[in-house]
Amino acid sequence: MYKSWSVEDIRKEMKKMDRILGKKGSELPIKINTRMTRSLGMYKFKIEDKKIVPVCFEFSTKTVSGEYDENTVIGIIRHEYAHYAANDIHKEACGHDRRFKNICELVGAPGKAVMRKNGDKVC
Ligand SMILES: [Zn+2]
Repeated sequence: MYKSWSVEDIRKEMKKMDRILGKKGSELPIKINTRMTRSLGMYKFKIEDKKIVPVCFEFSTKTVSGEYDENTVIGIIRHEYAHYAANDIHKEACGHDRRFKNICELVGAPGKAVMRKNGDKVC
């Protein structure tokens, strides 16, 4: 087993990226979702008056429980954060497009949607 992660550990990692990009993503709610089985992480947002409104980050229990090595978990956290940052900067849902991948490069996140370990998906 590897290190298990608390919400505060995740927030600390996000603060580093906030500092790189001058954002406040680490202030969003971070939830551990025990029912999340098909993906390892998720950035949730809603659209109000055609504007993107950040909601929260969610990570599966599997992601934080020590099943994955530290670098993999950091990759998952950064990937989700990059979704937040790309949408926030471009005021649009960027998905996994070129703009998203540029943010990934800035924060050192993997830009791919799928991280292979038993086919588990980072969203
Ligand atoms: Zn993704």
